[in-house]
Amino acid sequence: MAPVLILLGPPGAGKGTQARMLQEDFGLIQLSTGDLLRAAVSAGTPAGLAAKAVMAAGGLVSDEIVLAILKDRMAQPDVARGIILDGFPRTSGQAAALDQLLAESGQKITAAISLEVDDAAMVGRISGRHTCASCGEGYHDTFKRPHTTGVCDKCGGTAFKRRADDNAETVRDRLTAYHAQTAPLIAYYEAKGVLERIDAMGPIAEIRQSLGQIIAAIAA
Ligand code: AMP
Repeated sequence: MAPVLILLGPPGAGKGTQARMLQEDFGLIQLSTGDLLRAAVSAGTPAGLAAKAVMAAGGLVSDEIVLAILKDRMAQPDVARGIILDGFPRTSGQAAALDQLLAESGQKITAAISLEVDDAAMVGRISGRHTCASCGEGYHDTFKRPHTTGVCDKCGGTAFKRRADDNAETVRDRLTAYHAQTAPLIAYYEAKGVLERIDAMGPIAEIRQSLGQIIAAIAA
């Protein structure tokens, strides 16, 4: 059965960065509800219009909108290779809906991996981050600069963008939403026997290696 992995952790824990790397290392498909919602906002779809203000304020978009967007994406054929859910589920309602969605196609969660970090470091991690506007490669002003200033290592692009919600004030609201609504999912997956925890405070390459070991052990 193709793996279904969940990356859990607060904003800034490195879920998106690591999901992209797992996509490269294992050929899994990264499903980021944040990316899907940002695409809906840019496209001006009804879901995007409804989500825009909530996202700008650092709150959680309604389960109804998020589930509709995720189901659409999970109907694409490439997800048969296995998926890494990044930023989903974020509420107990979403976790229950995911269980049901997977059960309908005879699948279940392979592992939920909690990236364990100190909240205090998250504001700094998020405030400096930006991505290549062409290929989406992630960078950070302090922790991960391109080898040549202003040029993307991956694709040579020279335009970079920063998320509107990556500012200190909104990050604090996003962390509050995480602790109130998402952190309880760690116990939910622990009770199901699928939880793995890794220390995600170290260098990106080390975390990539720890994740790789977990996935290799699951696949073995
Ligand atoms: P992210 O890119 O995962 O940091 O998500 C950015 C924003 O999109 C969040 O602060 C929420 O407003 C919204 N969002 C992303 N995923 C979800 C989700 N699973 N449930 C509710 N809101 C979400």
